[in-house]
Amino acid sequence: MRIHLFFALITAFSFLACGGKNSATLQPNNPTATPTVEKVAVTFNADSAYASVQKQCDFGPRTPESAAHKQCGDYIVNQFKHYQLQVTEQKTQVQTWDGKTLPCRNIIAAYKPEAEKRVLLCAHWDCRPWCDADPDEANHKKPVMGANDGASGVAVMLEVARLLKDLQPAYGIDFICFDMEDYGAPYWGEESAPADGSDWCLGSQYWAQNPHISGYRAEYGILLDMVGGKDARFCREGYSLQYASHIVSKVWNAAETAGANKYFLREDGTWALDDHLPINQYMGIPTIDIIPFLDGPEGGFSATWHTVNDTPENISREVLGAVGQTLIQVLGSETF
Ligand SMILES: [Zn+2]
Repeated sequence: MRIHLFFALITAFSFLACGGKNSATLQPNNPTATPTVEKVAVTFNADSAYASVQKQCDFGPRTPESAAHKQCGDYIVNQFKHYQLQVTEQKTQVQTWDGKTLPCRNIIAAYKPEAEKRVLLCAHWDCRPWCDADPDEANHKKPVMGANDGASGVAVMLEVARLLKDLQPAYGIDFICFDMEDYGAPYWGEESAPADGSDWCLGSQYWAQNPHISGYRAEYGILLDMVGGKDARFCREGYSLQYASHIVSKVWNAAETAGANKYFLREDGTWALDDHLPINQYMGIPTIDIIPFLDGPEGGFSATWHTVNDTPENISREVLGAVGQTLIQVLGSETF
């Protein structure tokens, strides 16, 4: 994904209005902001999630048409099946900014597929073919390993899926691994790319317009993107506040209960052009993005973003655990 600067500028006023409203309801000192919710007694295993990050990276960068992409896709399918979920693969082809037609494989795993009330969790599993943000220009045409930008979100979802046997939610959960999120044009292809950023998030754009079940609905969605970086600090992302501020409140409150407020800051972050956008815009399912935002003059998501340093060594078990335990808290205290 990328930071959506243009949109941030033209929507600055609505963002401020929205942010003002939310900062009032999200203040930790506001007695109505943090309902007394019991801590969910299921423990997310961060070592297990880290092992999955390592496993995905061991295949190599999961770029389109690579052997690593095929093998990792099979691994993800098999893991979800192993946890007794119903897996649907959505295989299609998408048009890319560089005039190619490339295969796209979205992987959807359903817990209690018959349940009417559902929660959607999602992440992208593909890797970017270019380290175009690397400080060393010689690396710009090398693929990103995607330990954080790809594998981390999938790893957290797989560990949540494993724990459903303990959590036993009464409602349904869909885990969606989106393909072709990170194929957006690098700087050398900008002139060939659409101005609206639609060269990114190709898998989620396809699914949101062609869901695997016609008329698909979920009560809300949570997207995980780069949820394992050592430098992670999660701020409230702009589109998440615009489309789903009540879910932002729910998740940030859960983070506090789960003891993860060191990483979930009650601060506004950036606007991320990411997989939650087509879900909000095409399907109207309120969906937030848990994505890091670095403070400081350079901003950005992470120091390793789109560089050769996005490797397992730079993944923090503690961060994976903080995000995972927050999700367990959200799912375990859900009342519908
Ligand atoms: Zn990326």
